[in-house]
Order: sequence, then C-alpha cells, then structure tokens
Amino acid sequence: MDLVATAPAAGSGALERRVAHEGMLRTRGLRVTRGRLAVLDVLAAQPHADADAIHRAMASAEPSISLQSVHNVLAALHEAGVLRRFQPARSAARYELRVDDNHHHAVCSRCGRVEDVDCVTGEAPCLHAPAPAGFAVMQAEVTFWGLCAACAATER
Ligand SMILES: [Zn+2]
Ligand SMILES: [Zn+2]
Repeated sequence: MDLVATAPAAGSGALERRVAHEGMLRTRGLRVTRGRLAVLDVLAAQPHADADAIHRAMASAEPSISLQSVHNVLAALHEAGVLRRFQPARSAARYELRVDDNHHHAVCSRCGRVEDVDCVTGEAPCLHAPAPAGFAVMQAEVTFWGLCAACAATER
C-alpha cells in the first residue's frame, strides 16, 4: 500500500474529499500517488479544466510535477474511467470528475466557459436519432453553443 505523506489542504471537507479520491483510484485498480491526488483535487474545485490550467493550479502544492506528468496522469485517469474527457471544437481537452451520468455541455463561444447540462431525459441516449438501420445508438454527446450569463449581460 502506498503511504501518502502530504496532508490535504485545509478547508471544510478536504479530508473527506481526499478519502473519496483515494477510494476512486483504488476501485478502478489504480495506485494512489501524490500526482493523481493533486489532479483530482484541482478537478474537484475546477470542473472542465484543461491540462494547462490543472498544471498551474497544482503548482503551489506540487511544484516538481511537469506539464507532461499532468498529461500522463490525465491519460491514466481517463483510461481507467475516473475522469471524463471532453473536447469542445477549437479548444484543448477538458476533464471532469462527473462520469457516467450522460450529461451534456454548454460552451460560451465568447469566453470559453463550460457548464454542465443535465441529461435531457435522464438516461442514455437522451436523444433518439434517425440512425441508419441496424445502428445501435448508445450515447448522444451534445454540445450547446451560445453566450454564458456574464457574456450575454455585456451584450446588452
Ligand atoms: Zn462567456
Ligand atoms: Zn461536465
């Protein structure tokens, strides 16, 4: 078993979150490492962050971790199903902890802000398409584009 020497950041729920994250890694068969826990901490606070933003946010807690290491951690966590990866057009890949709930995304075409949109019907696929005969639709990945509330307010 790996021992994690770092104490979780102060703040309400930090310890519970750390325990939950360790559990998420172990149930997916992944070793618990400081780098993986640091990435999960960032994504708990900043859903839909990209690798650069995660790396910047980790800098104070884990200054020795390179951007390439962050990419490696993200790839391993995504591969194991701990993270969902989604990539809006013309944007870097974003990552989040909310997996397997078939939710969609609304992306602000001006500032790039990403917000979650709950599955419209509550189960996958939430849209039924006139798919080719014999094609079994399992999932609908929908991106809604528009202006976020802040950008829409400056429009007026
Ligand atoms: Zn915006
Ligand atoms: Zn999301």
